[in-house]
Amino acid sequence: MGDSAVRVTGVREAVETADLRVLLMSLHHVTGDERWLSAPFLPRKDVRIIADEASGLPREVAEEIRDAAVACWGLPPAIDVPDDDRMMRMMAVCLGHEVPREYLGMMQEEMGFVSRDAVVTSSKSSPESFDALVVGAGPSGIAMSVRLQRLGIRHVIVEKSTSVGGVWRENIYPGCAVDTPNHSYSFSFAPPNRWSRFFAPQPELRDYMQRTADEFGVTPRVRFGTEVVAARWDDRDGRWEVDVDAPDGRRTERYRFLITAIGQLHVPKQPTIPGLESFAGESFHTARWPASFDARGKRIGVIGTGATSMQVVPAIVDEAAALSVFQRSPQWARPVGRYHDPIPEGVQWLLDNYPYYAQWYRFTMTWRFADGLHPYIQKDPAWEHPERSVNNKNDAHRDEMVRHLRSELGDRDDLIEKCLPDYPPYGKRILLDNGWFAALRRPHVDLVTERIDRIVPSGIVTDDGTTHDLDTLVFATGFEVTQMASRLDITGRGGVNLAHVWADENPWAYLGITVPGFPNMFFLQGPNTGLGHGGSAIFQSECQARHITACIARMVDRGSDVIEVEESVARDNVAATDAAHERMIWTHPGMSTYYRNRHGRVVTVMPWRLVDYWQMTHDPVPGAYRFR
Ligand code: NAP
Repeated sequence: MGDSAVRVTGVREAVETADLRVLLMSLHHVTGDERWLSAPFLPRKDVRIIADEASGLPREVAEEIRDAAVACWGLPPAIDVPDDDRMMRMMAVCLGHEVPREYLGMMQEEMGFVSRDAVVTSSKSSPESFDALVVGAGPSGIAMSVRLQRLGIRHVIVEKSTSVGGVWRENIYPGCAVDTPNHSYSFSFAPPNRWSRFFAPQPELRDYMQRTADEFGVTPRVRFGTEVVAARWDDRDGRWEVDVDAPDGRRTERYRFLITAIGQLHVPKQPTIPGLESFAGESFHTARWPASFDARGKRIGVIGTGATSMQVVPAIVDEAAALSVFQRSPQWARPVGRYHDPIPEGVQWLLDNYPYYAQWYRFTMTWRFADGLHPYIQKDPAWEHPERSVNNKNDAHRDEMVRHLRSELGDRDDLIEKCLPDYPPYGKRILLDNGWFAALRRPHVDLVTERIDRIVPSGIVTDDGTTHDLDTLVFATGFEVTQMASRLDITGRGGVNLAHVWADENPWAYLGITVPGFPNMFFLQGPNTGLGHGGSAIFQSECQARHITACIARMVDRGSDVIEVEESVARDNVAATDAAHERMIWTHPGMSTYYRNRHGRVVTVMPWRLVDYWQMTHDPVPGAYRFR
């Protein structure tokens, strides 16, 4: 790969950095020529998250592609939107293997070849007669607002903080970055963004959210510093009555629809450890990282070894005088080649300028981080080694990860013993090793596996009686995930509170989107919609926003103003979700993960492949909803 600082003066320089499988698709668009989809221009299959741009093509073939791309630069594309058969062929050539036809529609939407907007098909009533309240201006609130605008639904977004961006505004800890490739983790409706890296750091994501909200007319609809404190369904009027705390006081407002977009990972989980309040130094949760905190010269304790810890620890290890990492369970982590690589200027140029390069680049990133791992996390009842893996593919990945862990930890047998998990890989969230093991090897880093007994003014005492002296205590202990939207005090039909329906840490919803007894109410990032096997959370939000707007469009078609999911349909859907989870890794005996509630039911993540969820949510199926 080239140096990102190199200034590209034109297409010739840019194509030198091109991903050839992507450039071939652009060439086919521009020329319409079949030869770019045939031998010898056939890229080799590459399943790595960041694939090799050379695509396994011989040097002279690569040169021919680049020369043709230069020669064709500036021509109007012969093909703008590929028809279905052509699209199938292009996807297969681009990846070097067949793509099942069921992915066609999903990818056409992801690439912008087909609109994801819901449309009204009759004129019984008008979308303008509806209004909605969206709670939260994070990524899913932004996605929702854009779809509502396109359907012509008036809406207001309430946001309790002072800017948009959700998790990307809240989490400012050092090392915070996305771990889904950015060209997939971005809105399908927005123009391609100039990401600096494959996995961009938090400030870029925050700015992207802000810019997208500004450009797509979301920001003016947001009422900042405003919080929903309660909502009640008025069945006679068919509206939600919502109490909001705004900067100028509390008031009650009425809306036809109530849509929560509050995210799953929002409320910090603060463990109750005896003596916590006695700690003499500074202590904070990673989601409340003080902007002014300076790690230099400090003895820092980090509790937790999840995705957040894996980003924080490598980011502060150089500055801290000493780092004690308190591990309750070890974690599997996959190596990701080129995690920190910049996107070269030539690639940025192609993404900005070369016809259809951005669409196909997004396609390759989306595909490689989509459903590929799904079969690896299905339990095989006949598998002979459930103590270490759930099927033979999972076992092969285990071998790879063990090799990686050993090669990273080298002669540190003590660390190998502490770091090797005793549960199957992917049993907790999939983590990427972006310098985690290397950080643990540093001489001033101590991986503490003894249980935390108590906190004292000078630090943490573990149950072997050791006192770990600390200046600062960081809680990388995750989030409260089981309450979800029920913490908003929502009362549905018949005076039933959502907290009651979801009591005992048991949130559930039809498609994760709506609950019987709560008409005209929808959730984004609701129960069982998180991603555990791959994919982009923005994709999930877009599927949900599509479903919600499709429901509203059907209401307009019918001249109805109340919609409610059928209880039996919702119950069947949740039962199917639970049954699918029983076949998956997170319900493997003994597995503990924040995906499960205290009874072991998986409540946060979905068991389905992305393509299944896309199909399930695309349009309301006949009989699923009652229209009034
Ligand atoms: P997490 O995955 O829930 O990890 C929390 C860690 O704290 C675990 O190691 C847990 O141990 C430990 N822990 C919790 N309570 C404890 C206690 N009382 N004593 C000792 N240890 C305790 O939380 P997270 O790392 O913040 O990640 C949460 C989610 O945020 C991720 O799964 C991901 O969805 C998202 N995230 C995404 C990114 C990204 O996109 N790059 C980055 C960060 C986070 P056990 O394993 O034993 O429970």
